[in-house]
Amino acid sequence: MKKESNFEAAPLRYAGVATLLRRPLVSDPSGVDIALIGVPYDGATENRPGARHGPREVRNMSSLTRSIHHVTRINPYDVCNIADLGDVNFSNPFDLQQCFTDITDFYRKIFEAGAMPLSVGGDHSISLPILRSVAAERPVGMVHIDAHTDTSDHEFGHKFTHGTPFRRALEEGFLDPKRTIQIGIRGAQNSEESWHGSEDAGIRVMYMEEFTSLGVEATIDEVRRVVGQGPTYISFDIDSIDPAFAPGTGTPEIGGMTPIQAQALIRGLAGLNLIGGDVVEVSPPFDPTGNTALVGATILYEIACILADVVAREKRS
Ligand code: MN
Ligand code: MN
Repeated sequence: MKKESNFEAAPLRYAGVATLLRRPLVSDPSGVDIALIGVPYDGATENRPGARHGPREVRNMSSLTRSIHHVTRINPYDVCNIADLGDVNFSNPFDLQQCFTDITDFYRKIFEAGAMPLSVGGDHSISLPILRSVAAERPVGMVHIDAHTDTSDHEFGHKFTHGTPFRRALEEGFLDPKRTIQIGIRGAQNSEESWHGSEDAGIRVMYMEEFTSLGVEATIDEVRRVVGQGPTYISFDIDSIDPAFAPGTGTPEIGGMTPIQAQALIRGLAGLNLIGGDVVEVSPPFDPTGNTALVGATILYEIACILADVVAREKRS
């Protein structure tokens, strides 16, 4: 049996086997510039689960995506090699620490092959074991788009949940708080601890109200000021988008971004020293129309476009 599938997307978008952004499904990351990876894990969700089904449904809705960006007129698949590396395989889905180890090990192989990871969750806890691999050599900056800071110390006594990944990443030295910005934060909390977790660490926290009054362009200027030209990771929680557009998520908060704002914001990150990203918290059981997965797939495409630009610039230099 051949190890490599050599799968090619069918020309008809509704036909064939669904993959992330309709890229070839491969098992070997060598020669891949941008590795699309599914991380079907939601065992650290506090409230409504279901994000373990995110990668499969984002693959399904990826069938609607096409290649040439309507603003930049660039086809990211022409400028670099982007492939679907499949899903992280979990040896014991009931053991959270083992799942995190499985994720970190998977990404280490991607990293060693020289590919940039772009992931689909899964709940937001997956960003911690990804950062343990991607930021192993030095702390990185981060553009974090989310309704929540995810820098709580614990939830119900548990240190590893989808509300704590960036607190742990700060403690473990993978995130540079001075080069991290969180955008879209909103929604009532039962304690101010999760907001203090970011502000006390020195993270630039941009609440939804400030984002709304600044607008996308001035927000992009602020992102560039904060993260500078050091290595920067993008983490996109689908609950940053208003639940009118993206209801299928574990912790919806009204008063969020519109998809066009999020698209323009991501597009504005072009030219940064980007090292990878993730789109998390798409929960298909709460997504009856499928639109949340469509928003997730389209945001994935937007991030793929700016990562492809990084690869293209590296290849030219
Ligand atoms: Mn989150
Ligand atoms: Mn969130």
